[in-house]
Amino acid sequence: MCPVCHGRSLGRVGVNLYYCWDCCVEVARSSKGYCIYEIEADGTRTAAQPGNNVHTAEAKA
Ligand SMILES: [Zn+2]
Repeated sequence: MCPVCHGRSLGRVGVNLYYCWDCCVEVARSSKGYCIYEIEADGTRTAAQPGNNVHTAEAKA
């Protein structure tokens, strides 16, 4: 389940790495919780920090 939108459109793209088709973010899962990465139009991955972006990361593990 996507930790950002809580949707189920989460596809696995790597080891502990998932992509949400609903909010277009990458979710890297770790033992500490989640890291959310925004994918820019040019393909750049940007770490989305809670509070400074349109998405709010909810690392409830
Ligand atoms: Zn999502």
